[in-house]
Amino acid sequence: MREIYSFGDISIQPNTLVLCDIDDTLLRFEKSLLDCYDDTIETIHSIAETYKMPNDFLESSLRDKENIMKLALNKYHHHQLVTVPKHNDENGFRSMTGEIKRKNSSLIFLTARPKTSDWLTMEHFRELNIRHDEYIVHYVSSVISKSKYLLEHLGEMGNYVNVIVIDDKREILEEIESEFPNIETYWMTKVLTDYERNKAKQNTENQNKNKEKIE
Ligand SMILES: [Mg+2]
Repeated sequence: MREIYSFGDISIQPNTLVLCDIDDTLLRFEKSLLDCYDDTIETIHSIAETYKMPNDFLESSLRDKENIMKLALNKYHHHQLVTVPKHNDENGFRSMTGEIKRKNSSLIFLTARPKTSDWLTMEHFRELNIRHDEYIVHYVSSVISKSKYLLEHLGEMGNYVNVIVIDDKREILEEIESEFPNIETYWMTKVLTDYERNKAKQNTENQNKNKEKIE
């Protein structure tokens, strides 16, 4: 696995199939799933305060990670519906797609989005100025892992000498590596969004305030 900060860091050999993730790799929204998870926890705390929720009640709601994740996913999906995505690395992406064309190679998107969200993905591509008729998107959905999906579908994607997978989630790439030793994997390291940068700043300020209080 190679850690990269830009698509431009990937060297494309002739006859390569590039499988690229969409969310948090090609594009990103102001808030990530993790941000929505944190927001959900904050919401639970503020409800607890408003309703004077007894402590053990609050603790048990915070312990229900599965439910929190469900709420966070709903929040994230809603966020994806109502906001416009941004390129994660537009220049790098353009240089990679140019290189893919020159090297007689192909780019296919591999996403955990469900097939039913095809219309939304097409909308997002349009917003990013990506010609969606030029690319095939494989919708894995979250029911199976990308590695399991590739076991079944890699053959139908065509015959290539090399296969590359780009994703922002390490565990996805680790699983693919162990199943397909010949696939090269690239871990797209996360660049902070404005929201995350502000939040990180706020956290540091709060920590400093707390420190002052103690001192
Ligand atoms: Mg992703």
